Amino acid sequence: MALLLFLTSFVGNCAEVVWNDVAELNLDQHMEFTVSDSKTVVGDEEWHPDTEKLSRSTEQYLHFRVSIKNPQDIDQSLWLVIPFPAIKQLTVNDGLNTWVTGDATAFSTRPVKSPDYIFPIRLKAKQTTQLSGFMQGEILRYSFSLSTPELVNATYRHTLIRDMSFFGSMATLVIVCLIIFIATKYRSYLSFAMFTLAFGAWMFRVFGYGFEILWPNYPLFNDISYALLLYAVMISSSWMITTLLKQPERQVKYQNVLLGYTGLLIISGALSALFLDLKTTLVIPLYWFFPAVLLWLVIIYKEYKTNSAKAKWFAIAMLPLLLGAAIVVIFALGFSPPIDPVVSLMLGIVTTCLLLTVMISTYLIKLLQSQRDREHQQANELEKLVKARTQELESSNQRLQELAANDPLTKLPNRRSLDLFVDNSLEDNNKIIGIAMLDLDHFKRINDTYGHDVGDIVLYEVARLLRPLNTTDCIAARFGGEEFAVVQRQPDKTRFEALLNEVHMKINKIIIPGYEKIQVKACIGWGISDDKESISECFRRADKALYQAKEQGRNQLVP
Ligand code: GH3
Ligand code: MG
Ligand code: MG
Repeated sequence: MALLLFLTSFVGNCAEVVWNDVAELNLDQHMEFTVSDSKTVVGDEEWHPDTEKLSRSTEQYLHFRVSIKNPQDIDQSLWLVIPFPAIKQLTVNDGLNTWVTGDATAFSTRPVKSPDYIFPIRLKAKQTTQLSGFMQGEILRYSFSLSTPELVNATYRHTLIRDMSFFGSMATLVIVCLIIFIATKYRSYLSFAMFTLAFGAWMFRVFGYGFEILWPNYPLFNDISYALLLYAVMISSSWMITTLLKQPERQVKYQNVLLGYTGLLIISGALSALFLDLKTTLVIPLYWFFPAVLLWLVIIYKEYKTNSAKAKWFAIAMLPLLLGAAIVVIFALGFSPPIDPVVSLMLGIVTTCLLLTVMISTYLIKLLQSQRDREHQQANELEKLVKARTQELESSNQRLQELAANDPLTKLPNRRSLDLFVDNSLEDNNKIIGIAMLDLDHFKRINDTYGHDVGDIVLYEVARLLRPLNTTDCIAARFGGEEFAVVQRQPDKTRFEALLNEVHMKINKIIIPGYEKIQVKACIGWGISDDKESISECFRRADKALYQAKEQGRNQLVP
């Protein structure tokens, strides 16, 4: 009787599920749980299909069990999978083997290297196998399923490809942004690279690639790295927002509030890590997060109100992320969205990050363009200045040349120009030249009677008559004092004489306004050189003729 009672109680309490040759069997609905103070069950515990009815302290053990019947004629090699759990201590038993694992257990003791916990199970042909075990310490989540190794491997490969594509994209973005930052020193790239690095690393950790694969045997390091990455995400996001929204002429709205708030997070996190415990330290960013998101929204809105195109593009760049998050929420609410929620979230994150990179690059290009425009403008101004200076120099050169070549009072060519003209004539084989020397009569008297200034006016008026004679073949120059000279290349004797007569006549007709009494008179001695005579001899001859004109009573031409 007692045996029968024992058997019925056993069958009644233990749920049984049939393995009907499917690739995967979810065991959650078939599990039974009980709580005890020891690793073994006495036998009088009450078993429940869900754990909500059970109250348990972290020191107590949560036992679970399920029986699986294999109705087939052959043994089944299957894997019991607890996907990516968060359990401090876990022990699983299938009647043959016992596995001890969990967050606090060295990874080397686990049978399969994967973020999921996997236990190889053998279901004997035509037999019922009981899977049982217990968890202890902190238990955050668990789920049981029985799968063929082929399915687990295929799913794991698929998940790895998905996750590594995501982390690869994030890492590529980080590297590209860092390279651009090094090349351009544009700070937005650095802040964005830091945020993407922290966020990607945090996701890497959240998705179970840290403790489970990279540092399997250091649970404390696992928790610390998680905390550090969480803080890094929060801090870098604040930094990124302020640099990405920054305007050239002013600070981002409420920037100091955000920076102060972030500073408080760092201080409280550090204090909590020092004086409280890691768990509290990990919880702080969660409470910090939601007000921070509100603050971000206010900042973006306020910036948008100041007509900041950056804020507008920032908000638009966030849309893919929000869409991805919305699909996750839809999934969490129990609906089945048409796209894998994890893939949609990853796509959303990567697209948002890409859009932000495009936004940063657009502003960098604009910045560089305006810088180049400024440089162009500066170069143009410099060029203009150089041009103006060159022009000034040229005109002052010209003035100097004029000063050197001309007589300042009469503006006629000076003696130096006359000598040059004669030298050039000789070089050009113009050996035949007409020379006329002109001297004003009794000029000293004009000076003495009317003053030096009036004398100057007379000189100027005479020069005005002579000036039109200057051509490429003729020069009329001030020789010195009240003496002038006319030199003509290849002259026609009659025409040269006629020209001199005309000049003489015009000199006689000069009237100085206000000094109408002044009669300007002059003597002209002239000659034409021939092949035999040198230029200086001809000059002397003209001079002699001039002297002769003075002797003969002045105001006349003598050849
Ligand atoms: P002659 O008929 O013999 O030539 O008598 P002249 O008085 O014209 O001759 P002279 O050589 O004695 O005097 C020339 C004067 O011309 C002397 C000088 O003061 C004057 N003179 C020379 N250069 C200038 C000048 O640039 N401006 C003025 N106002 N007078 C000048
Ligand atoms: Mg004289
Ligand atoms: Mg004179």
